[in-house]
Amino acid sequence: MAKEQNLTILEVGPRDGFQNLVEFIPTEKKAQIIQKLVDAGVRYIEFASFVHPKWIPQLADAAELYSLIKDRPGVTYRALIPNEKGLERALEKGVKEVTWVVCATDRGNLANLNMTTEQSLEMIRRIGTRVKRAGAKFCGSIAYALGDPIEGDVPIEKIFEIVRVFRQVGATDVSIADSIGIASPLKIRKMFPELANEFPDVRWSIHLHNILGLGIANALAAWEVGVTTLESSIAGLGGCPYAPYPGGNVATEELVYLFNKLGVHSGINLDKLMEARDFVRSIVGEKPKKQVGHPEEK
Ligand SMILES: [Zn+2]
Repeated sequence: MAKEQNLTILEVGPRDGFQNLVEFIPTEKKAQIIQKLVDAGVRYIEFASFVHPKWIPQLADAAELYSLIKDRPGVTYRALIPNEKGLERALEKGVKEVTWVVCATDRGNLANLNMTTEQSLEMIRRIGTRVKRAGAKFCGSIAYALGDPIEGDVPIEKIFEIVRVFRQVGATDVSIADSIGIASPLKIRKMFPELANEFPDVRWSIHLHNILGLGIANALAAWEVGVTTLESSIAGLGGCPYAPYPGGNVATEELVYLFNKLGVHSGINLDKLMEARDFVRSIVGEKPKKQVGHPEEK
């Protein structure tokens, strides 16, 4: 039973959260935010995307940031990779875990990555083993897996096809992304058993966005069907820069609070996490939102 396992929270705020901010956060400040998250007990962090700075200037300092944060014992850092150039930059820097992102629809892949889904998959087939040779771990991420903002539902066979390519190049961890927050508990309860049935050896995670509070319900649904790695962002920052409407990420503090109530161990101290959240707000100027507030907060 999934409930007897520990929960792993993958903090994606430094990547998904920051990429949507207009004002550049200085690299030192980013490192300080990450340190506060680590102090709170966060042990798995997606710290940046090695995307071309022209596309997302906010993440142009991915390599420099990694130099500042990498020596934290017990912390796993993951970088998002959109293309070969990005992969080269990450591996050169000594990044130990990379996740290659592919969109489940051609429309989404063209908008986000400027190539068709098949072209992305061809690239992965070609260079997948390069990651292994560099001694790094290769993970897969499927954006819009739970729905495309224009095309809607994605057939499960399409997800299978992408996962198959990830498996061919040795990925054991695959992230299913609700990139714009249109999933529902019903959809999640249906999808993950199908995925687990087709690929029993894959370790799944779910990347959650939040529209009108459904994100947290989706997190719980995923947990209940055996997904033990949940992706969230401190202070609920985030959102797909290419989606037609914004939906912030599920807030890490909401997840920790929920799972504390369920008696599920995440290893994260909520009080310290709230300090990290306040620190983030002091930098990005985010106004406190009621739905991501601490319940004891006055
Ligand atoms: Zn996202």
